[in-house]
Order: sequence, then C-alpha cells, then structure tokens
Amino acid sequence: MSILVIAEHDNAEVKASTLNAIAAAKAIGGDIDLLVAGSGCGSVAEAAARLDGVTRVLVADAAHYADQGAENVAELISSRASGYSHVLAPATTFGKNVLPRVAATLDMAQISDIIAVESADTFKRPIYAGNAIATVQSADAVKVITVRTTAFEAVGEGGSASVEAIDAAVDTGMSSLVGRELTVSERPELGAAGIIVSGGRGLGSGENYHQLLEPLADKLGAALGASRAAVDAGYVPNDYQVGQTGKIVAPQLYVAIGISGAIQHLAGMKDSKVIVAINKDEEAPIFQVADYGLVADLFEAVPALTGELG
Ligand code: FAD
Repeated sequence: MSILVIAEHDNAEVKASTLNAIAAAKAIGGDIDLLVAGSGCGSVAEAAARLDGVTRVLVADAAHYADQGAENVAELISSRASGYSHVLAPATTFGKNVLPRVAATLDMAQISDIIAVESADTFKRPIYAGNAIATVQSADAVKVITVRTTAFEAVGEGGSASVEAIDAAVDTGMSSLVGRELTVSERPELGAAGIIVSGGRGLGSGENYHQLLEPLADKLGAALGASRAAVDAGYVPNDYQVGQTGKIVAPQLYVAIGISGAIQHLAGMKDSKVIVAINKDEEAPIFQVADYGLVADLFEAVPALTGELG
C-alpha cells in the first residue's frame, strides 16, 4: 500500500496541518510519499524529509504552483494518483479546495474530514455537526481523504526521507492569483493556537470585542476567535469564525466569552482540552461543555480577569 499525502505549505515552511495528515497516513499504514507542490520551495522539501513516517518527498517546483491554486495542484495530484491506494490532505481551506477536484477527476468518492482510521478502507467521520459519527467503508481503488487535523496527533521529526524532484503537470491556466488580503496579526494562527480567546454576540459590538478581548489575548499569548453571530454582526472578519462552518480547533485552552454554545459553534471547539466560559445566563448551553464556567457580566468579568493576569 502506498499513500500520497499533500503537503500544505507557504513555500517557506511546512504548515502544522501537514503533520496531522501524515499522522493519519501512518495510522493507515504503508509507504508515505509527501507531495510538495510549490515554487522555490526547497526549504519546505528539506524540512518535510525530516518528518517522522515519510518515505519520500516528491517536489514539483514550478512557477505555476507558486500560489498553489487548486486547479493546477489538483491536476498534478490527479496525474500521479493512480499509483496510490490513498491520497490524503488536511481538511483545511487548502485541502478542502484541492481534494474534491482530485476525487471528481478520478471518479472516486471523497471521504471527508476523517477523525479515525479503522482499517485501510474504513474510516470514522463526524456528521450532523458532530452529533453522530459515521463509519464509512470505501471500495474505491484510490481513497481520496481529507483529515480533520485536530483528531490526529501531529508527527514529529526523526525521519530521513529521500527528496525527489518530479515533473510539473501542465499549467491549466484556469485561474491566477490577483491579490491576497490577509489579516495581519502578531497573534498565533487560530487553527494551530494553544490558547484561544473567543467572543460572541454578547460583546455587543466590534469595538467592545477589541477593547475587551485583545488585552486578555495579549496576556495569554492567545489567538482570537469568534462565533458566527459575532462575525455576521461585523465585529471581526470571518476568518475568526470557529464552528461547523468556520475553523475546527482543539487548543489546550478555549475561553468562550459571551457565546451561548449553539451546536454549530460547539462542533468547532468541543474537543478543546480545557474550556472556560463566561456568560451571564446560567442556562447557556456552553456551560454543558465547559470545564470552568463563570456566570457573570462579561463587561465586569473580562477586565477583572485581565487585571488578575498581571
Ligand atoms: P448568541 O446565541 O446570541 O449568544 C450570545 C450569548 O451572550 C448569550 O448566551 C448571552 O447570555 C450572552 N451574553 C449577552 N450579554 C452578556 C454579558 N453582558 N455578559 C455575559 N454574557 C452575555 N455558529 C458559530 O459560532 N460557528 C459556526 O461555524 C456556525 N455555523 C452554522 C451553520 C449553520 C448551517 C447554522 C444554521 C448556524 C451556524 N452557526 C454557527 C450559528 C449558530 O447557530 C448560532 O447562531 C451562533 O453560534 C450564536 O452565536 P453567539 O453564541 O455569539 O450568539
């Protein structure tokens, strides 16, 4: 059995999500090839070769992979997939963009967002916002899988894989990157943060969100997150959103402030190691998943907590 894992990277570093996808591949078992498609991505390939479990690093270095547009990367993967029993990518924005195209091209059924490997053809994945777990068996020749990153412990270093340059596939010319508007932040990335301070509609406004949560996040060295209601109300951009239709996170500490705990929000954070909730409504469902709950007005509790942190 041999498995192709698609590396998520920025041409400089391997993204943490790749380490979780490799862990899922290890659970399946077999040789693991890691595909690095990029431009000027030599440092990524070198780092990838040191990852535990990787047999070979395949590097497709070409200008048309510089921005890792889904059309071109999917074309490359599809052209090489037939030799593999499995193709895996993290279930991040990157993987969710690329892999469905691969599955469609190969005429295989994608198995999305797996959280456990039962055997080489059987996987578990959450459905209904995590309220039920489906066990899915696939008879497809190539199993095209996205991996829920929070469900697999990241692999470490310790490998010594070979690095092989491979030919790029054709430039499909179907899309090109015109520009990228990114939130510039000194804070950790939401998807990979160890601590997250997350705010909801209870904050009342974007101004309050920033005024109350940023000092707390700064003291904790935390990333900032939000409920969908806070995003929809324009308090923060939508890349802050945690939940079923946002990011799935599982930090060491998740602090939910003025968030009611709707199932769609819980679907994105209930696997956090320690959950702290501050809400003035003692009946709020967030308290059912919280390890520590404070029934209080957030406008008093948050500044007090921030002050206590010194
Ligand atoms: P509310 O439910 O309005 O809760 C606000 C909370 O703040 C209340 O519990 C209130 O008691 C508390 N509060 C108010 N004032 C104070 C105060 N002064 N002090 C302390 N507490 C206070 N939601 C997500 O978050 N992420 C998703 O990915 C997501 N995906 C969805 C997908 C679908 C298909 C659907 C239908 C919904 C989705 N939602 C998602 C929306 C979800 O159902 C909820 O509407 C949303 O999570 C509510 O956000 P909230 O908790 O901030 O707001």
